Amino acid sequence: MAVENETPITVTSPLLPDPDDLNKLLKEIWATKWITNNGKFHEQLENALCKYLKVPYISLFTNGTLPLLTALQALRVSGEVITTPYSFVATTHSIWWNGLKPVFVDIDPSNCGLDPDRIEAAITPRTTAIMPVHCYGKPCDGARIQQIADKYGLPIIYDAAHAFGVEVEGQSILNWGNLSTLSFHATKVYNTAEGGALVMHDESMKKRIDYLKNFGFESETEVVAPGINGKMDEIRAAIGLLNLQHVDTCIEARHQVAIRYREALRSVPGIRFFDDMPGVKHNYSYFPIFVNAEEYGMTRDELYAKLKSHGILGRRYFYPLISQFDTYRALPSAAPENLPNATRIANEVICLPMHHLLSDSDLNRIIDLVASPQTA
Ligand SMILES: *Cc1c(COP(=O)(O)O)cnc(C)c1O
Repeated sequence: MAVENETPITVTSPLLPDPDDLNKLLKEIWATKWITNNGKFHEQLENALCKYLKVPYISLFTNGTLPLLTALQALRVSGEVITTPYSFVATTHSIWWNGLKPVFVDIDPSNCGLDPDRIEAAITPRTTAIMPVHCYGKPCDGARIQQIADKYGLPIIYDAAHAFGVEVEGQSILNWGNLSTLSFHATKVYNTAEGGALVMHDESMKKRIDYLKNFGFESETEVVAPGINGKMDEIRAAIGLLNLQHVDTCIEARHQVAIRYREALRSVPGIRFFDDMPGVKHNYSYFPIFVNAEEYGMTRDELYAKLKSHGILGRRYFYPLISQFDTYRALPSAAPENLPNATRIANEVICLPMHHLLSDSDLNRIIDLVASPQTA
């Protein structure tokens, strides 16, 4: 029973540059006719992002999935890769597309990232990498995951698609592990319409990744690696340069939304959510709530449907688990008994609308419904 006169509230809304500002940059592109392959805006955006994100080297991509594929190629990973079932499908697909076997390990409910206590038991002689996700932009237990990786000599590729700008004690978490990937998809905190990046520690890796994302070309006639086409074009780089000027304002607006949600929902029985972590600069990319059906008096799916009937389009990130999709469910590590926390949380989660344009009246509508499970 859709309610009339209520415009739908979507889970997110893209940060968009002023079209007049964009037009100025488009005119520059048109004048030079240089629209892709390491153009001026591409170079400017790489430099600006290194500075903004506090990382030494970055390589831009045309989306956030190619950096995952390319990272596994760059590190010449083979065999099995330990990863989380609680993520967007691209994480596991990138392992599969490299001809590798994903091995799912359960998550820690306190941050929805890989549970370090369960990683070692999943390591076999065929394990060659660990691919954790900073889910919702909440930092994984990076120190302990690194300890395990060091003990077994395994590289770590962080899927940091949610972690744009996240810092711990003033340091970017994108510098953790061997490589970190970013997505600049329209639904993310910072976007270039479609886009992404790989963050690396040194110049030689930057060079290797830059070859790999351009078919492996080192020069006009030399191909030094079996590369792919992952290049970001000038138009997206221009959008990225403009959006970067506004992303801090956008994140602060999201922060205010998080404050409102927390104040309003803290006393609601059966609703759990995350608070800020001490020493962490968050990006407020998502606002997941976890519904305990018994205490709340309504299941997650009932709440999801109720919100939808009132035009509030929450999303069940991440449900179903990646390990439950047909491609992966036959893997031994995909068994729900192996993934009790992920299985439970996937059945409890709804991401409430979270973006920079939510108004007070939008927030009131959402909060009133979530805070009163007894009303239809
Ligand atoms: C969005 C996302 C991706 C993929 O990024 P695209 O830019 O859509 O290709 C990968 N991993 C996670 C965790 C994501 O949320």
